[in-house]
Amino acid sequence: MRTFQQIGPLRTYLRGIRQEGKTIGFVPTMGALHAGHMSLVKRAEQDCDIVVMSIFVNPTQFGPNEDYNSYPRVLQQDLQLASNSGVDAVYTPSTEDMYPAGFQTLITPGPLAAYLEGEHRPGHFSGVCTIVAKLLNIVQPDRAFFGQKDYQQARIIEQMVHDLNFGYEVVVAPTVRAEDGLALSSRNAYLTEEQRAAACAISLGLNDALRAYTAGECSAKALREIVECRCRNEALVSLEYCSIVNSLTLEPVEEVCSVSAVILIAAKVGKTRLIDNILLPSRTS
Ligand code: AMP
Repeated sequence: MRTFQQIGPLRTYLRGIRQEGKTIGFVPTMGALHAGHMSLVKRAEQDCDIVVMSIFVNPTQFGPNEDYNSYPRVLQQDLQLASNSGVDAVYTPSTEDMYPAGFQTLITPGPLAAYLEGEHRPGHFSGVCTIVAKLLNIVQPDRAFFGQKDYQQARIIEQMVHDLNFGYEVVVAPTVRAEDGLALSSRNAYLTEEQRAAACAISLGLNDALRAYTAGECSAKALREIVECRCRNEALVSLEYCSIVNSLTLEPVEEVCSVSAVILIAAKVGKTRLIDNILLPSRTS
């Protein structure tokens, strides 16, 4: 596996790959890799000739009171895991290379970023779009791979890639979960054993709602109540939002049946903020 810290050598390497007629799959990450990240690598391996991963904890997507400083950084462990999983090249830029003195251009996403995470984390998606755009411009992959785990992020990136004519295919892969249902996340490492057990209320609530939807419940209010009830019963879980929205526009829906919808949830377990979601496919399609 090749590792690159500098843009120049990475670009030279990738030019060579393209000249050989090979396709490039790209998996951007913030590191502290887990099976969720590795599922994107596996998918990229299936779809492309070579897989490039980036590991960069992006400061511009963290708010002033968020966990940028404490975010888990385990680069050597990550490189080992990436190498064992067949990643061909890892790009680990420095913050100075990504945001040199005088840097001033940020991407502003549109209405998809207005609600939910965008409302609770002002500026977050501008930071996400800016770093993803920079990385896509550097790597120029054929396909870029993102997780459904960060549903709103994936939709906003799809929209940016379309709006700005990036010409890369965006692939969104399913959420990988622990055996008890908790969505894998680098932030799960912050949880104590007790908090980790309590955090299951999030995915249990989402699954309860999916089951009720499958059994015929269409009211978004009723489905939300099912999720909220699970979380209320867990003293360590404090719900930030639970919204049922159109899966494309992310606008709130009242009745779910005729549109494809998604339940999006953010909750704090102790000081750790977790997000998750579940799709409610349209019954009419
Ligand atoms: P992160 O390192 O958290 O920025 O995530 C990097 C990529 O991995 C993003 O596209 C995430 O959506 C994706 N990802 C994170 N957790 C999971 C998971 N449990 N299952 C699938 N993809 C994930």
